[in-house]
Amino acid sequence: MEQEILRIKEKAFSELEAARTLEELQTIKVKYLGKKGELTRVLREMKELPPDERPRTGQLANEVRAFLESELDRRFQNLIEQEKQKQLASEAIDVTLPGRPVRRGHRHPLTLIMNEIEEIFTGMGFEIAEGPEVEWDYYNFEALNIPKGHPARDMQDSFYITGEMLLRTHTSPVQVRTLEKTVPRVPVRIIAPGKVYRRDDDATHSPMFHQVEGLLVDRHCTLGDLKGVLLTFARQMFGKDREIRLRPSFFPFTEPSAEADISCLNCQGEGCRVCSGTGWLEILGAGMVHPKVLENVGYDPEEVVGFAFGMGVERIALLKFGINDLRLFFESDLRFLQQF
Ligand SMILES: [Zn+2]
Repeated sequence: MEQEILRIKEKAFSELEAARTLEELQTIKVKYLGKKGELTRVLREMKELPPDERPRTGQLANEVRAFLESELDRRFQNLIEQEKQKQLASEAIDVTLPGRPVRRGHRHPLTLIMNEIEEIFTGMGFEIAEGPEVEWDYYNFEALNIPKGHPARDMQDSFYITGEMLLRTHTSPVQVRTLEKTVPRVPVRIIAPGKVYRRDDDATHSPMFHQVEGLLVDRHCTLGDLKGVLLTFARQMFGKDREIRLRPSFFPFTEPSAEADISCLNCQGEGCRVCSGTGWLEILGAGMVHPKVLENVGYDPEEVVGFAFGMGVERIALLKFGINDLRLFFESDLRFLQQF
């Protein structure tokens, strides 16, 4: 058996010396030292030897094993070093070549508009508030005076997680969440920008879109204050010549409620194709906070009053940039995005 071990040592060593690649070395390692390797097999057969021969043969086998392992390791290191040298030699650097320009990205048009809206309102003293996109039915509907079975729910069909949990259909739940925290303190002045979700998908509706909610609660404020805030916003966003008008409307969480229009950007109010001949473009919904909503969060509607408004960021962006298909914002087409 000792002969056998020495023969293996010779054979393995000469193969090892001849190996030129890391793969070849690996094959040799498996062939001799692997689980089914030749030396491993011999070691296993050792128990069949007469007891007095075992220690010497065992020691020899272990020495050979250690020897082959260290030789393999040495050859591995050598080859790796050689590879590295070869690579370095082939990678000559021409320092006279011009550099590759790094292409800089920029903000998405919707982010630009959202930032601009935030800037305008924080300039008027509003703070930015945030709320979860996965919302309880209570905050999304109930607390906003939209009980189960209310027809207003039909216009806001969303994606439900469970019967009581859904992707929020508007940013209005942030009103409730904020007021729950501020009660009974006034004034409260916040805007709440963020993503909202509805089951719509066409040229003017996306299942995911952005809104900015605004809320002001104080001891005294009127529809006139609301109109002033909206006019300031309209002029800063769309130019100082803008006029606004409020049209009566209905939202369950405001009373009275209004739609706000700005004078048409295209015809300055004369009437054209963009504004369907009316001279006005709708930009948002607004109104005085419904007493029920204040009551739901613990404010006394006899003591405080508020106004709220909500706008679609995509709608503002479409008007501002003169784009007619909302889907462009979400298609990630660089030819479109690079224009901003
Ligand atoms: Zn017009």
